[in-house]
Amino acid sequence: MSVFDHHEFDNHEQVVFCSDKKTGLKAIIAVHNTNLGPSLGGCRMWNYIDSGDALNDVLRLSKGMTYKAAMANLKLGGGKSVIIGDPRKDKTPEMMEAMGRFVDSVGGKYITAEDSGISLDDLLLMSKHSSHVTGIQSRYSFHGGEADGNPAPATAYGVFVGLRESVRYALKSDLQGVKVAIQGLGHVGYRLAKHLKEAGAQLFVTDIYQEQLAKAESELGATIVSPEEILSLDVDVLAPCALGAVINERSLPHIKAKVIAGAANNQLAVEAHGEELKAKGILYAPDYVINAGGVIDIYHQKQSDSSGEQLKEHIEQIGSTLSEIYERAEQLNKSTNTVSNLIAEERFGLS
Ligand code: NAD
Repeated sequence: MSVFDHHEFDNHEQVVFCSDKKTGLKAIIAVHNTNLGPSLGGCRMWNYIDSGDALNDVLRLSKGMTYKAAMANLKLGGGKSVIIGDPRKDKTPEMMEAMGRFVDSVGGKYITAEDSGISLDDLLLMSKHSSHVTGIQSRYSFHGGEADGNPAPATAYGVFVGLRESVRYALKSDLQGVKVAIQGLGHVGYRLAKHLKEAGAQLFVTDIYQEQLAKAESELGATIVSPEEILSLDVDVLAPCALGAVINERSLPHIKAKVIAGAANNQLAVEAHGEELKAKGILYAPDYVINAGGVIDIYHQKQSDSSGEQLKEHIEQIGSTLSEIYERAEQLNKSTNTVSNLIAEERFGLS
């Protein structure tokens, strides 16, 4: 298979195929663009159908990281790595150490972190062989208590800031009494719900697990709705915090919210849905911009002199970045996702 002719190939600077016979490791590291700094992106372990499937993922995800880092005002580029295999069956400590050696072999052009199938313990094993591993130190917790090494608090705070700015822009109001529907009360969704409750919003929530719902009802006074209802609720804001592709041909005609602002990755099933949201007068906060709090957190861990306050201030820039996107989108009469990509490309020097 040719990498250069691959449909996801986008002038990636470097694509490294890694094979370690002793541990059975088969991995690919992709560095998309380093114009703004070394590339950062998580390491994913997944039971890919074949190496073509893995290549597809690593090319696509590393490119996405370049756009995300640029919009998060980070001096970083985009990269990603994938390990081919079932994380529950095939992973061994020796394999993770071998991955650490491969990360190191790229010489700092690629910095790795956590992603699906890779845990904090795996990163610690990789870090025995490379200093280009991040996401392994304690973080700022945002709600008091212990920082537990999880990027979700930073992501949730960023989504909160971005949602608040989107409401200010679209509805000319603060969050007092604003109705927000949250799909998914996981690591990010529940923390977002807490921030919103503190700001006076009225919450409508769903999840497929009862435990989280009962907690949201008793602790936050949230109204529980079914997973089938959440996307079409008559609310001000829809916050997708569970799955990708929730804005699709089936859901689009039924969305009544005026603002879509949530943590989930790849919310639009296809980019063209951004235009349809614009036509319906719905303000869409591009997912990779609003959910960048976690990557900002990871960046600050690499800065030895960074404080919790500096991290918080940096995450708060998500608000001004979104206003810039919204204003430009209005001036250019384009969808917010298109304009976000344009601004990112200006920043990392593509246009
Ligand atoms: P999570 O797995 O902790 O939470 C997801 C929640 O969604 C779970 O409680 C799950 O039960 C629920 N859910 C799954 N399917 C559902 C459905 N059909 N209807 C309603 N609820 C459903 O994940 P998370 O870490 O909270 O991340 C949430 C989303 O944000 C994901 O798309 C993730 O990729 C994205 N994201 C997370 C981070 C982060 O720092 N954790 C950063 C960027 C993006």
